[in-house]
Amino acid sequence: TIGMLAIDAKGNISGACTTSGMAFKLHGRVGDSPIIGAGLYVDNEVGGATSTGVGEEVIRNVGSFLVVELMRQGMSPEKACKEAVHRIIKKKPDTAKNIQVGFLAINKKGEYGAYAIQPGFSFAVCNAQQQDLLIKGKSFY
Ligand code: ASP
Repeated sequence: TIGMLAIDAKGNISGACTTSGMAFKLHGRVGDSPIIGAGLYVDNEVGGATSTGVGEEVIRNVGSFLVVELMRQGMSPEKACKEAVHRIIKKKPDTAKNIQVGFLAINKKGEYGAYAIQPGFSFAVCNAQQQDLLIKGKSFY
């Protein structure tokens, strides 16, 4: 999945995501990316979030909506992503050892963060101060 979150000079947030789905997927499978609240969610009052990885686990936890709601409660983007990842792991500890799910989020202040189950989830930041800064996201394992 490629997920993008943007904030403009007035603090308006938008997001988009695209995916080729999972390898060897069943014909007709619908992943998390086209489902608002799962692979992508933006609330212009709070912030936005997007996900990558095994869509079934993101859908089960309404992942991106969860991240935005956690930010609404006051969590930083990274903390909200971390909490969403922990919820997936807590529900299915054995499955989670072998799968990847990662979240990326931004809030109204333009603060951003990410967190994934497995290492290797990195994201790029582009703003007036920094162009194409590649950040290695933190992970559970
Ligand atoms: N999230 C996508 C899906 O489950 C897979 C991906 O990360 O590209 O369809």
